[in-house]
Amino acid sequence: MPTRYDLRLTPDLTTFAFDGEETVTVTVTEPVSEIWLNAAELTISEATLTRAGGPVHRGTISLDEAHERCGLRFAETIAPGTWLLRLVFRGTLNDKLRGFYRSTYKDQSGTTRPLAATQFEATDARRAFPCWDEPAFKAVFATTLVIDPSLTAVSNTAIVSERIEGARKIVAFADTIKMSTYLVAFVVGELEATEPVMVGRTPLRVWCVPGKRRLAAFGRDIGAASLAFFEGYYGLPYPGDKLDLLAIPDFAAGAMENLGAITFRETALLVDEAAATHSELERIADVVAHENAHMWFGDLVTMDWWNGIWLNEAFATFMEMLAVDAWKPEWQRWTTFGVSRSAAFAVDGLHSTRPIEFPVGAPREADAMFDVLTYEKGASVLRMLEQYLGPGVFREGVREYLRRHAYDNAATGDLWAALGRAAGQAIPALMDGWIFHPGFPMVSARLDGGQLVLAQQRFTYLPEPLDSVPGRGSAPVVDRDQQWQVPLQIRLEGSGTSRVERVLLTARETRVPLPGTTDAVVVNEGGHGFYRVRYSRDLLDRLVRRLPGGLAPIERFNLLGDAWAATVAGLMPIEEYLDLTAEFRGERDKNVWVILTGSLHMLNRIILPGDRPGLERLVRDRIAGAVEELGWAPRPDEDELRRQLRGDLIRALGTLGNDPATQARAAELYADRQRGATTVDPNVLPSLIAILAHAGDAARYEEFVKAFRAAATPQEEQRYLYALVGFQPRPLVEQTLAKTINGEIRTQDAPFVARSLLMTVQGRELAWDFVRANWDTMDRLYPKHGLRRMAEGVTGLATPELERSVHAFFGERKIDLGGKTLEQYLEQLRIAVTLRSREGSRLSAYLARW
Ligand SMILES: [Zn+2]
Repeated sequence: MPTRYDLRLTPDLTTFAFDGEETVTVTVTEPVSEIWLNAAELTISEATLTRAGGPVHRGTISLDEAHERCGLRFAETIAPGTWLLRLVFRGTLNDKLRGFYRSTYKDQSGTTRPLAATQFEATDARRAFPCWDEPAFKAVFATTLVIDPSLTAVSNTAIVSERIEGARKIVAFADTIKMSTYLVAFVVGELEATEPVMVGRTPLRVWCVPGKRRLAAFGRDIGAASLAFFEGYYGLPYPGDKLDLLAIPDFAAGAMENLGAITFRETALLVDEAAATHSELERIADVVAHENAHMWFGDLVTMDWWNGIWLNEAFATFMEMLAVDAWKPEWQRWTTFGVSRSAAFAVDGLHSTRPIEFPVGAPREADAMFDVLTYEKGASVLRMLEQYLGPGVFREGVREYLRRHAYDNAATGDLWAALGRAAGQAIPALMDGWIFHPGFPMVSARLDGGQLVLAQQRFTYLPEPLDSVPGRGSAPVVDRDQQWQVPLQIRLEGSGTSRVERVLLTARETRVPLPGTTDAVVVNEGGHGFYRVRYSRDLLDRLVRRLPGGLAPIERFNLLGDAWAATVAGLMPIEEYLDLTAEFRGERDKNVWVILTGSLHMLNRIILPGDRPGLERLVRDRIAGAVEELGWAPRPDEDELRRQLRGDLIRALGTLGNDPATQARAAELYADRQRGATTVDPNVLPSLIAILAHAGDAARYEEFVKAFRAAATPQEEQRYLYALVGFQPRPLVEQTLAKTINGEIRTQDAPFVARSLLMTVQGRELAWDFVRANWDTMDRLYPKHGLRRMAEGVTGLATPELERSVHAFFGERKIDLGGKTLEQYLEQLRIAVTLRSREGSRLSAYLARW
């Protein structure tokens, strides 16, 4: 059992190698002659075991690369007690964005500069130093970094000493708290930081490469606000001695919750607030709050094993909402959370979904757990539970859980036990169905005399699972009788009266007596439940008559989202859904529009080319009135959400609606702005860029490539990069594809650009050919989860011919994307192809009327 690591690393940023030595204090609990620990891609040259006053035992080293382990054999038997294990090793600063890796960026003079950073979760600490690389082996880490004197080093804790020795600077960091290996971090490079702000007794700073400190204020503000919020919510002080937020130019994930040294990709931390859209700011607020939430939930108390990763991530996602909602109530973060819940529904409505928690053997099985089911479904069911128990009771349970398991590990059952003690009721009966079983219910609602009849059934888009998946054999068995304990919140609307009923649906069906004055019924009042609702025709009509003001935004969001899901599943005719969208012309909530435009985008992917003009006219009919009313410039009294809505709708009208007038106006405004003749609202500017790309030629393409390279902020860079995906001419699609493997686009972004191209109508065939031809190159270049992210684009290849080609490719190549990822992509593709074949002719007839 390791208890302490004294770690000394000497990275060389010119040769991209590092030397390391460590002394691990270990407790030997029974006599042994062998010691095993984790190591990968390391050369270990020396291993000795000593204890005070005793002889030095020299170990024979054997590396087992396949299992990422290292064995030390000793000639003598090692007696129980405390020992010091000293290891000397060497490794490389790799370019795969994991372990101890290198990143490069261009400085202000255009010179390429190196930087070294770490990313250890889940199991890559072993690439930086030999260790017991499992979350339950918590220990204290005392890190020393030996670096070039011109560079700066940051690690989990404050610096305790810094001295120059010859041509080296030796930086020693304070002891960490007892924590897991995956939370250790170090960053070495030319770095600059903001002045620290004090949050209680914790100094908080934002770090970045030189020249970008002007983009750090917003991240620092939400960092400080959320840290203070969490100290209050958790009722425990921040567990570290300082908190640094570091923007890393190459970063595979969004961010990583290393205790005291949180790392981010630049777009998730740095921003020019005055030039950013609401969505870009919201993303940063979310990610920073999420990582700060982990300092307690994840870092102070850690899951026993990787099967518990959902609890870490679901909880941090839930807490991120609470913190951002408290910081900026006007953002209505819980309404926008509906979009995240929808993303979870989309995967959880598949036969090939999985339970939130499932047994994990080898750690690599946990890799596929970092998905919407862990984060978004997990957070949704926690929100449902919080609302059911009451926020105060829920918080009490969380506080008790953290106090009881601080500096230690815990499992899902421990949280249920703590919440159960706070609530005075057993939690597992309610929650097990949501956590340990796949899928979610659709609750149907109909009237029967004076009663409301509510019934549950598992929702799936397809009646049957795919009969086979390449390389995986036969289909899974579906449990059609699956039931949940569903906390229902129902609002009964009469003429001038309104009351809320709470019902725990524990059986297949239940009946609720209705007062004679009931005119309409809202199931899932407030929108926190993780279930879809299917109203009978008359109940739906009564709700539609109350649009828009009679329903809260999240309720309108759910009404439309549930109707669209029912349509895709074949439970609602496509004509009925499209008629329903007409009732939303007056809608002014940006999230409801996300559902509406999302469904029209899906139709755009499945229709025949001849139907496209009809779809474009329909899009214009739904959106043009709203754009006309909103105008192209903000009014002085408008909130941020309205500004974002304007940007979103203009974009949809100019691209999906292909509206010539909108395209002309966008070109004119953009040109005026470029020559300084006018200003454009930051929420509208990205839409202008997207519209110009959609209608753009080779000259515009060149202009945008230059703008991408010269971007002044990470957000501007992303806008021009993703705009390249929107160009229609074939040679331009080919140019963008080439950039995904020729080094012009960072490997942290390239998989996402390729994914986006696979999902475009104009580029999907070319993109699919390109991906098939270059799969091995991409596999070599992209970071660990890159191919899995990119391959999601196959869900957009929604023609029968392309679907066959997709199955053939994955079958022949025997590609495993981890967990059930491939099955899920293929099922999503089948859903799109099925929708096309089932609704195609009626859709054609409907669109022909436009
Ligand atoms: Zn997280």
